[in-house]
Parts: sequence; structure tokens; C-alpha cells
Amino acid sequence: MPHSPELHTDTLDALPTPAVVAVSGQIVHANPACLALLEAEQADQVLGRSYSDFTHPLDLARARRRVQALSQGGVPGQRNQSTSYRMQTCCGNTRMVLLASAKVLWQGQPALLVSGIDMTHLDRLQHEMQESERNFRRLFEKMQDVYYRTDAQGVVQHVGPGVRRVLGYEPHEIEGRTAESYYPQSKDRDAFKVAIMEHGEVSDFPGQMVRRDGQVIDISISSHALYDQHGAFAGVEGIYRDVTQRKNLERELHRLASTDMLTGLSNRRVLLEAAESLFLASAACGDAGASPAPALLILDLDHFKSINDRYGHLEGDRALIEFAAVVRAELRSSDVVGRMGGEEFAVLLPDTRSSEAEAIAQRILQQLRLRQLWGGEDQHPRGMTASIGVASRQPGDRHLRDWLDRADKALYQAKHQGRDRVVLAD
Ligand code: GH3
Ligand code: MG
Ligand code: MG
Repeated sequence: MPHSPELHTDTLDALPTPAVVAVSGQIVHANPACLALLEAEQADQVLGRSYSDFTHPLDLARARRRVQALSQGGVPGQRNQSTSYRMQTCCGNTRMVLLASAKVLWQGQPALLVSGIDMTHLDRLQHEMQESERNFRRLFEKMQDVYYRTDAQGVVQHVGPGVRRVLGYEPHEIEGRTAESYYPQSKDRDAFKVAIMEHGEVSDFPGQMVRRDGQVIDISISSHALYDQHGAFAGVEGIYRDVTQRKNLERELHRLASTDMLTGLSNRRVLLEAAESLFLASAACGDAGASPAPALLILDLDHFKSINDRYGHLEGDRALIEFAAVVRAELRSSDVVGRMGGEEFAVLLPDTRSSEAEAIAQRILQQLRLRQLWGGEDQHPRGMTASIGVASRQPGDRHLRDWLDRADKALYQAKHQGRDRVVLAD
């Protein structure tokens, strides 16, 4: 039968970890590390007391069972496995301590040595980690964005629960399939692939997706490429979000900023921008280019002021709306028509010979004459006429302004020659 080891005070006191010796349940020695753990200023706050005085009530029964098992059944020198207990200090604070006990001899008597490690700090860390894990889970579940990860072939490996709200699918319905299936236009997906392969990441990348119910939504993707340990492309990880509302707002703002509110035609700015790009493209093509140069029409209603004066401003507005409709009806979809301001309009005709442009202008005036436009309150038909200046871009036009000026001059001549007519610039 093995002997229980004889313990010495010096050895115990030199231990960096807390240790106590108990004889018949009473503490007979506590080392300095133990006194520090139990927040005892003096040894007699601990000596003579039972270990149970320092055990948290909820852990007491468990502690007693283990001590009994060891003192009754255990052999001398035998240790039991370490277990954590909540201990209460002399100041009433709680410490989580990992305790192990062993049978020893203390001054010739059988005794119990209990030593431990203060785990309070670790325990708090663990709690904090669990809490942070819970927070992360909550965030992940509630997140408006959709987290996703694909493999190198584009097959979705993992998708977050946000996909329910954004696309109307359960995550498991998306996982295992390629993202291509949700892109209404493959060019969006191709552009994304090119960008991610080129830069390794994309931020706020635009695209569209189709929801389960068929609705097409605007999305914005922020993702980065994943690489394996050999540096080979292994897939993509990132998030996408539904930005349809924002895009709709942007589209509406763009429409408001580019449309003339009365007639619904393009406004002056849009028309001038379109004229500038047609002008530059035509100049770049060279004047010996295969297609004809663009033509510009400037249209101005005749004696419009008197329409306002006779029938009132509202009737004048109605006349402007009707005039815009007549002009629009004579044009191709590639032509651009805009209201330049007041009762002056402009039309851009790409790739149009000046003779054709003149013919279109004549047709507009003819329609205006034929259709006795706009009935007033009294429903009496009232006519209106307009004058039109036509100018094709010429090799001598060095700036957009030169082209516009020639069209303006032609309009002025049309007015001067008696109105209700078309004049073609030289
Ligand atoms: P001309 O044949 O020489 O072009 O004569 P005009 O009366 O058409 O030209 P003028 O420039 O003298 O008058 C244009 C009028 O158009 C003056 C202005 O009150 C009116 N006008 C400008 N914008 C609007 C508008 O949005 N609504 C209405 N109802 N009238 C407008
Ligand atoms: Mg006028
Ligand atoms: Mg005018």
C-alpha cells in the first residue's frame, strides 16, 4: 500500500497556485496564493474553518460528494480529477476555480490537499466569446445583406438567411446551384466575373437579379476572390443587397433632371449634350465618312405670345403640349427632341441628309396645318403655325456653337420671310 506523501509548509507556501490542507474537514493551512484568492488579509480568516464556508451554495453538494468519495474510497496519494467550482471570497466575491484534491499526510495525520487555479478570468472570456458568437449569429440572421460564398466554378457553397427576404428563396434552395440562374442578363454576371478576376475584389458593383416571384431587382455586390493555399482561384465570398428603391429614386431623379415637365420631352441640357456627342462623333468619323452628317432642326411657334394673350397662359401650355406631340409623331425613335425653352424646340436627326431633314421639317409644318389643333373652352378649333431652321453639320463647323448658330440663323430667316416655313441653312 503506497504511503501518503508528507507535506511541508515551505513547499506549499512556495507554490504559485492556491492550495489548502484540511484535516477532518477543517482547514489547517492555506498558502499565500490561497489567501490572495480568497481575499483574506490574515490567515486566521481561513484557518479552522471548513472548505464549505468558501464554496458557493449551488456547488456545495457536488463538492461534498467528491471530498467524501476521496476520503472514504480513495487510496492515499490518490487525486481526483479537476473540476471547476464557484468559490466565495472573504469579501463576498465569487471566483471560478478549477480544483483538484489529493490525500496527503499533514504532520503525521491523514489530510486532504486541495489546490486550484483561478479560472474566473478565463470563464469571463468564455462568456464574452459566447456572447459575441450569439451577437454575430443574431446579426447574421437579421442582416439586410445576403452573405454568400461560391467555389471556383461559381456553385454557391453557403448563402445567408437574408436571401429569403431579398430573393424569396430558402438558403438550401440556392446552395449547390450556380449564381447564373438568378441573373436576368448574363452580361451583368460576366462583367462581375471580369472585375473580380482583374482586381481580386469589387465594391458596390451594380447588377440585377430575379426574385422567385419573377420580379427583377437591382442589386449591389461587394465581394472578394478566395484563393487556396497554392494561390489558385477558389471562389468568391461577399455580400449583395437589394438597392431597387435607391435605383428607382436615382432613375426618378435622373428623369426629373432631364425632362421638360410640361411636354415630357428632353430638356435643354439633355438636348445640348446629345448634340455635343453627335457633333464630336461626326467630326471624328471624318467628313468623308460613309454615313451622312447629323442634322439639327430649331423650331419656334409663330406669334405664340398672341395665343397666350388671347386665350390665357393655360391654353398656351396646352398648345405647347400638342405641338410637342405633333413633332414627336414625325420622328424616328433614334431622333432626339427637346424643348429648348419657352416655345422653342430642337430636333437632332443622326445620319440624315439635309434634304431628308428638310422634308421632315416640312411634314411637321404640314401636320400642324392639317390638324386644327387644340380646342379651347369653347371647343372652337384653333390653329397655330411654326417656323423651322434646318442645318446639317458642315466640315467648317469647328464647335457645336457654329452648328447651332447656323440653325438659329435659318430660323430667323424663316421668321423674317413670313413664318410658317422651313429654311435650310447654307
Ligand atoms: P414669333 O413668331 O416671333 O416667335 O413670336 P412669338 O410671340 O412666338 O415670340 P415671343 O418671343 O415674342 O413670345 C414668346 C412667348 O412665349 C412669350 C412667353 O410668355 C411665352 N411662353 C414662354 N414659355 C411659356 C410657357 O411655358 N407657357 C406659356 N403658356 N407661354 C410661354
Ligand atoms: Mg415664337
Ligand atoms: Mg421664341
